[in-house]
Amino acid sequence: VSASPLIPRLAPLEELTHDFVAAGRWTLPQDHLSPSSLGMLHRCPYQYQRRYVFGEKERPGQALVIGSAVHLGLEHNYRQKITSGEDLDMVDLIDWFYSVGWPNTLSEQQERAGMDIVWDEDTGEEGAYKIAQACAVGHITVAGPAIQPLEVEGAVEADFGIPVKVIGRYDIRTERRLIDMKTGKVTTTKPKPEWRLQAGTYQNMTDLPVEFHSVAASRKTGNVSVATPKTHPELELLLSRSQRENVITMIKGLAALAQHYMDAYGVEQPWPTTGWMHPWACGYCGWRPICPAWSSV
Ligand code: SF4
Repeated sequence: VSASPLIPRLAPLEELTHDFVAAGRWTLPQDHLSPSSLGMLHRCPYQYQRRYVFGEKERPGQALVIGSAVHLGLEHNYRQKITSGEDLDMVDLIDWFYSVGWPNTLSEQQERAGMDIVWDEDTGEEGAYKIAQACAVGHITVAGPAIQPLEVEGAVEADFGIPVKVIGRYDIRTERRLIDMKTGKVTTTKPKPEWRLQAGTYQNMTDLPVEFHSVAASRKTGNVSVATPKTHPELELLLSRSQRENVITMIKGLAALAQHYMDAYGVEQPWPTTGWMHPWACGYCGWRPICPAWSSV
């Protein structure tokens, strides 16, 4: 039986993973994996192929730019707090955000993708700037007093017995936890399913629980809402020992699947477009215009 275009002939996952780990062979161009790249592979192998095998960048959209700007603003505050023990004065933070944080975010995003940013029609750049600034100020005002960082924008890596290392990046590390910041149009009060792999990977690497902080600003009123484990305890994820082991099994299985797709389809044929059946993947995908799953011919 030859491989069909959608589902290639596949050994049972356990066998595939065992053979993959034993062979230690990795022919993809990535020199490491991450929870987000593995999550993308799981959602939509075709999207993964475009992003990580072809190395293509997506055109930066407003959500990405706002998220990056908020992270930069929070990093500016929490980095100095490692030694000062104090949050910045918010007037100083707003000044810095206007003159340094926002312009740096825009140029970095444009340079990285080599494309102009696409702003939402209802906000434009000015509205996006206000949202980002409000989110950064809102998080520091609401959650900042309880955070004493030891490190910001850090990375951990681990060898999970596969041919490439896995790297995880976190926003803040304190003595007892890692904190990951999420921005969106509305706050999220429960961890999204795709955050579980991230938390499980980080816990295997550091033994620390992972907190998710969700921050959003209303487009109409500019009011900010912040959700943290203090208001929504489910936003702290602490996996059991067997759940952590299962995360490592999943990481190995997904890495094996990536190599399998590389062997089955390579760069000549499109990898499976399973994002088409995912609840939100295609709505946020920069490759939709060229995606076979959406072709009208
Ligand atoms: S449009 Fe949907 S199916 Fe196509 S690559 Fe993007 S996520 Fe995958």
